[in-house]
Amino acid sequence: MADNRCPILKKCGGCQYIGRNYKETLDIKLKNMRKLLGEFGKVEDIMGMENPYHYRNKVNVAFKRKKNGEILAGTYEEGTHNVLSNPDGGCFIEDKKAYAIIETIKKLIPSFKITIHNEDTGYGLLRHVMVRTAHTTDQVMVVLVTASPVFPSKNNFSKALVKAHPEITTIVQNINMKDTSMVLGDRNQVMYGKGYIDDVLYGKKFRISPNSFYQINSLQTEKLYGKAIEYAGLTGEEVILDAYCGIGTIGITASDRAKEVIGVELNKDAVKDAINNARLNSCKNVRFYNNDAGKFMIDMAVKGEKKVDVVFMDPPRSGSTKEFMSSVIKLSPKKIVYISCGPDTLLRDLRYITKNSDYKVEKMIACDMFCWTEHCEMVVLLSRNG
Ligand code: SAH
Repeated sequence: MADNRCPILKKCGGCQYIGRNYKETLDIKLKNMRKLLGEFGKVEDIMGMENPYHYRNKVNVAFKRKKNGEILAGTYEEGTHNVLSNPDGGCFIEDKKAYAIIETIKKLIPSFKITIHNEDTGYGLLRHVMVRTAHTTDQVMVVLVTASPVFPSKNNFSKALVKAHPEITTIVQNINMKDTSMVLGDRNQVMYGKGYIDDVLYGKKFRISPNSFYQINSLQTEKLYGKAIEYAGLTGEEVILDAYCGIGTIGITASDRAKEVIGVELNKDAVKDAINNARLNSCKNVRFYNNDAGKFMIDMAVKGEKKVDVVFMDPPRSGSTKEFMSSVIKLSPKKIVYISCGPDTLLRDLRYITKNSDYKVEKMIACDMFCWTEHCEMVVLLSRNG
């Protein structure tokens, strides 16, 4: 499976490994992880995909109107804000349904006289479009990111888009008036449907709102969570902490095999989704809290009321904090399962935990969540020595 066909490969810079054989890309990632994390033992293996294409369930595009009136929609050229047009048929790693919807939006823009936002002048309405697809339920969410709350003829625009793509289940206007490189703003206005999509992972249902984090490769996420739960060795008696829990996916997935689950997450919308997801799955033993994971843990460690048996920690790429980790050490769970999308910060954090406690790394495995890119996801099991 070698792939040289992407015409914007060099400019986009997203897929560093496209052009190689897929198996070879897995070998490179495993070798890199073994080299990076070798001081803690051997990385067991890498879990790859059978079909490593069009796996991204979240697609973001920027727009540009050229001088001749032609509209471009696609990703930015690496390191710049030049919009590269999506290759015909779409990007190799992104969902195909998203590509078709974005092509339609491009065609609808002139007929609805929608202006394209210009970052330099601040003029123009449409900044980005985000499309999220749910791999099990086939629900599709379109988020139109605008620089102003006023969206002329938005109802007719929604109608036309849904008519062309009946697979769309919800359309949301997200308002981002800030001068920022963040795609989404804080405010959402539902234009069509429920304002969120539902997906099923590991037999559990999840509501996903526009601003909530959701793993971008659903098939690999099931493998990842499967491994994390296997590493935790749950018997049904454990109190679990799901830190950096997003919409509650890990905690809810593990809840059948635990006595109690406590989740903590900073993003308000994600916690709302998590609380709703616990209800949706009738999980009575799960509680979610909206807080900084570090602060929450310091509180728990100081109070010392709660015995925690297993900590799942899945921080963003920037990794965890000393506050969080030292409080985990104080709480002294039997096991820590660290899920990481940033191997360098994982290394830093594993060094911190192992130097400042008697926890040892027992097992490590890699997962190819971001096929064709140089990124690699890791699951690591730490347990107390003796
Ligand atoms: N475990 C979830 C989410 C992982 S992504 C899943 O598998 O889907 C990391 C999450 O950490 C994001 O939801 C992000 O909003 C959250 N986060 C970032 N910084 C945080 C902090 N300081 N405290 C708590 N959560 C944080």
